[in-house]
Amino acid sequence: MFTLTGMANTIYSDSMTESFKMLIGGHWLPAEELFEITNKYNGELLGRVPTCDKEIFEMAVRAARDGFETLSNTPSYQRARILSKTSQLIDSAKEDLAELIAQEAGKPIKQALTEVERAVQTFQFASEEAKNIHGKTVPMDAAVGSEGKVGFYLRFPAGIVGAITPFNFPLNLVAHKVAPAIAAGCSVILKPSSLTPLIAIKLGEIMQEAELPAGGLNIVFGSGDAVGSWMVTDPRIALISFTGSPPAGKKIKESSGLKKVVLELGSNSAVIIDETADLDSAIPLCVKGSFNFAGQSCISVQRIYVHKQIFDKFVESFLGEVKKLKVGNPSSKETDVGPMITETESKRIESWVNEAVRQGAKMLIGGKRQSQFFQPTVLTNVKPEMKVVANEVFAPLVSLIPFADFEEALNLVNDSVYGLQAGIFTRDIQKAFAAVKKLKVGGVMINDVSTYRADHMPYGGVKESGLGREGVKYAVEEMTDIKMVCFNLI
Ligand code: NAD
Repeated sequence: MFTLTGMANTIYSDSMTESFKMLIGGHWLPAEELFEITNKYNGELLGRVPTCDKEIFEMAVRAARDGFETLSNTPSYQRARILSKTSQLIDSAKEDLAELIAQEAGKPIKQALTEVERAVQTFQFASEEAKNIHGKTVPMDAAVGSEGKVGFYLRFPAGIVGAITPFNFPLNLVAHKVAPAIAAGCSVILKPSSLTPLIAIKLGEIMQEAELPAGGLNIVFGSGDAVGSWMVTDPRIALISFTGSPPAGKKIKESSGLKKVVLELGSNSAVIIDETADLDSAIPLCVKGSFNFAGQSCISVQRIYVHKQIFDKFVESFLGEVKKLKVGNPSSKETDVGPMITETESKRIESWVNEAVRQGAKMLIGGKRQSQFFQPTVLTNVKPEMKVVANEVFAPLVSLIPFADFEEALNLVNDSVYGLQAGIFTRDIQKAFAAVKKLKVGGVMINDVSTYRADHMPYGGVKESGLGREGVKYAVEEMTDIKMVCFNLI
């Protein structure tokens, strides 16, 4: 079993299983009520984590207020050093961190390692961005009556950032909130997913080692309905940066009043394969994009629209690649697909697949559930209104759908309440640009899958996929306020 090493955080309970603490104002605090974190593959207990109550939450807000006072007055070169050191420390512990993600999230170790390597970059990008926060001059005399004035704006840190994160990228999505916040000079109260909080504890330890001032990062644990909603409604928290499901995102928007919110939500992402596509490169990318981390990614490939001329050929090769996937223990280097996060989730997707089959869908491969595992599953003959097409599946399940005309395929991609990212495989530049223009999504990947993301690019959705953008530079913009300065040269 992976254990978090050392530091004040680690104590032992009667059963010798570690009980962890919350990070408040630079100290690790225990609480009486604990909940259990298990290995998602074998159910072994990994540790117990305390539940934040109102009293501790109040301490966290006060600590974050002090942390903000310190960080907003810390020069940017110093904030950059803390972030760069964090990046180095993550890099030097990457094997252990990946193993922890594999155990608490059930993510296959090779994909967990990629997540850790991405977090190394996210902190490095933030370190560079900390020194690159600019204002701009404004040509005041462009307005009649503003002759003789000189104007410019500056960016100031917004205040305390409330970061609420999901289970599926438990390190890098925490990094996408904490790193830009520190770069901007904001302090953070982080509430990670209750399914995967241990890697956030590890990050807290690392950032202390990187000499983040006390109160710069505070970590609390508990449910979204309790601790999450205290964060959303507390007027002392300036901004909520949320990544998670669309229903939770809607609740947050409704209850946050005038507080700034950045919402990174779900999707039923699509890929188009036109008749000119290079199938040798498209098919392996589509298989990975559909089944990595058992499809539990917000930009996982869920719908593949394939031109009818090449549909049969595509299906045959695609299924050939799916058969090669190794399903099993996430800690094994061979594994491509691990368990889903809970058995409730694997039962949910089993019922959606069964319902689709009853409604006329054809199962090409997979469809079986064993406890938390759901076999990589491919459907065809699906209809737009089926749950497996219209809702976010968030599971190892993809539908292959033939189309006759490119314009029709673009319309099918847009026929969704979501709009996060889409992929188009084509050698036709006209079609590539038509897709860029017409698709209602936050990102179009040409000759790549919807699942592609680099950590410095603007990332986020339209429609029910969210509001605002992450990607370090863009998150820093969200986390800073513009202040206009105008000199009247009298
Ligand atoms: P979830 O919404 O169940 O939980 C996410 C976090 O929100 C958790 O910390 C949870 O405790 C908290 N939360 C839940 N309800 C809340 C409320 N009312 N107020 C405040 N906090 C609340 O999501 P999940 O199951 O952990 O993650 C899967 C979802 O996240 C999927 O829909 C996926 O598409 C989405 N996601 C989106 C992105 C993106 O960048 N767009 C990335 C990863 C995951």
